[in-house]
Amino acid sequence: MKCGVGPAWGALSDLLFPRECVVCGGKLDVGEDSICGTCLLDVPYTRFWDWDENPAERRIWRYAGIESAASLFFYRYEGGYASLVHQVKYGGRPELGHRLGLSLGRKMAASGRFCSIQAVVPVPLHPLRRLRRGYNQAEKIASGIAEGLGGLPVVTGLLRRSRNTHTQTQLSGEEKRRNVAGAFEADLESARHLASRGIRNILVADDVMTSGATISAAVHPLMEAFRVSVATIGFVE
Ligand SMILES: [Zn+2]
Repeated sequence: MKCGVGPAWGALSDLLFPRECVVCGGKLDVGEDSICGTCLLDVPYTRFWDWDENPAERRIWRYAGIESAASLFFYRYEGGYASLVHQVKYGGRPELGHRLGLSLGRKMAASGRFCSIQAVVPVPLHPLRRLRRGYNQAEKIASGIAEGLGGLPVVTGLLRRSRNTHTQTQLSGEEKRRNVAGAFEADLESARHLASRGIRNILVADDVMTSGATISAAVHPLMEAFRVSVATIGFVE
C-alpha cells in the first residue's frame, strides 16, 4: 500500500461512520461497497443477457418491435434486492445506479448479443421531478451500462417527456399503457445529429420494467429512425 490510507483508514472510517449493506442491513466490511459479500453471492440475476426471446423481450414485443432486451435482476418486493433500486431513486445514491448499470453493461458485453449497440439513451424524467430529485436515475444507470459496453456515448437530448404522467403504482397494466402512451417525443435535431454520425442502433435504459408500458412508450417515437434495444436494472416477474 503506497500512500498509507488503505485498509487502516478504511477500518477507522467504518468505525466512525458504520456502513450498512443496502440489501440485508448488515455491517459492511472494509473493501465492501453498498452490498455485503453474502448478498452479492445471492443476487437473483435474470441472465436475460444470454437468452434469446427472454421474458423482457417478449413483454416489450407486445407493444413495440425492439431488437433485444436485458435486465440485471428479478425485482421482488421481498428479499431486499429492490432496496438497491430504491436507494438509487429515493435514497440519494445516484452512484449506486452507475455501479448497477456497469454490472449489467459488462454482462451484456460478454454475452455478445448486444455488440451492434452504438449509444445509450436514458428514459427521461419529467423536468419537475428531475428538479426535485436532483438527478435522473436512468441517466446514472445508462452511464454505467455505456461504460460496461465499452465506453459508448450516453445521449440525453434525444428523448423528452411531452407531459407529466400520473403516478402509476395503483393502475392496472392496460391503464398504465393508456397513461403513458404519447408521454415521450423524440428531438428531431438530436435524431438527425445521431444519424449524421452513423448511429442507428441505440439502447434505451431505465430502472425497473414492470408492465413494460413506460419503456415501450419511450421506445415508440424512436422506432422510425433507429433499431432499438432495451435494458433495465430490475425486472418484475
Ligand atoms: Zn447484505
